[in-house]
Amino acid sequence: MHAFFEATNHYFEHAASILGLSENMKVLLATPERELRVEVAIEMDSGQIGNFIGYRVQHDNARGPFKGGLRYHPTVDEDEARSLASLMTWKTAVVDLPYGGGKGGVNCDVTKLSRAELERITRRFVQQIHDFIGPDKDIPAPDVGTDAQVMAWIMNEYGKYHGHQPAVVTGKPVELHGSLGRESATGHGVAIIAREFLQHTWNRPVEGTTVAVQGFGNVGSFTSRELYDMGAKIVAVSDAYGGVCNPEGLDIPSLQQHVAAHRKVVGFSGGDSCTNEHLLGMEVDVLIPAALGGVFDAELAEEVQARAIIEAANSPTWPEADEVFHRREIPVVPDIVANAGGVIVSYFEWVQNLQHFRWSIDQIRAEQDRRHVESFAAVFDLARRQGVSLRTAAFVLGIQRVGRAKVLAGI
Ligand code: NAD
Repeated sequence: MHAFFEATNHYFEHAASILGLSENMKVLLATPERELRVEVAIEMDSGQIGNFIGYRVQHDNARGPFKGGLRYHPTVDEDEARSLASLMTWKTAVVDLPYGGGKGGVNCDVTKLSRAELERITRRFVQQIHDFIGPDKDIPAPDVGTDAQVMAWIMNEYGKYHGHQPAVVTGKPVELHGSLGRESATGHGVAIIAREFLQHTWNRPVEGTTVAVQGFGNVGSFTSRELYDMGAKIVAVSDAYGGVCNPEGLDIPSLQQHVAAHRKVVGFSGGDSCTNEHLLGMEVDVLIPAALGGVFDAELAEEVQARAIIEAANSPTWPEADEVFHRREIPVVPDIVANAGGVIVSYFEWVQNLQHFRWSIDQIRAEQDRRHVESFAAVFDLARRQGVSLRTAAFVLGIQRVGRAKVLAGI
């Protein structure tokens, strides 16, 4: 089974056929440049040996160093890393960053690890891959199960081998060469893209729009908060333990306080509890998956009552579901456009590290929004002109740019 990579390649193939790419070019663009699979053995707090497997897939670097997150989760494997690395190649190209695509992580359950074990796993992983990453080679960032602290450990461990080089990783703590606005960047970007989508498609404002968000981690919580601040009515949110809903709209700042104290949304007094299944089938203007991939299959896609989907998570939609949404005329803003805010501000963090200079939050937001809004407009126009979905248009744009870079550079 190579489900996730197959799904990403399905979208790739469709766009590549519209572009009329030769078979050779398709193979060249689809094949990852390098795949690392390493043993991450550590001593557990109990004194036992913990044996974990780490991955780093470097998909393409025609436009610049490999760039993409590190995920710590029990689902991490070659297939998932390959698929996410490929998505990063098209994503960085769609938003026109001087990067390629990579992704990786460690197969582990962070909920069962102590902080000391997490640090040992991270340092051991870096010991195994440090020769293959670097500011001009491959620059990891946070994803599911990893955060600014993990990035700080990566920077520190890498420095033991190669000297102090903060630009080896992005998403670091602001006090340790991180960028202002990076933590909230992906959620902020999703909210901006929701605003642009509503305006371009239905000429309506965010204010009063009903929204349901699956996942209340980094991306889901900041997306909810930004849309709430823009006047949207967030009628339901959920996490791995269940959801809460309120038809009048949830008070997101209070919910964030509840989650900070209890680590889950369930039990929040400002709404009724509901299941993830219920949330995904709710009648809302915008449904935002912001948890893991593979959420929508064909069956669930038939039951979705939302008017539009904005993919904050990576790969939430299987190709069969995508066809159902297309047939039912439910527009989907694809992951490689919707959640690119994170990698855009990661790029600014890298630039600041290389410049040894700190940008203001106003400068960061202005540049982030400009780039993201322009990219969305380009994808939207292409989709309209060619009569294709937003996803196909985004892939066409990304593939075209990477293909052109490959041809210009030569093999
Ligand atoms: P996170 O670990 O901070 O949060 C994940 C959230 O999903 C948590 O609230 C968790 O409880 C919830 N969740 C897990 N399983 C669930 C389930 N079965 N049903 C409902 N909720 C569930 O991760 P994150 O960084 O917020 O990433 C979320 C998604 O966004 C991922 O697909 C990731 O690849 C994507 N993404 C993240 C970034 C970033 O900057 N962090 C950037 C681009 C894309």
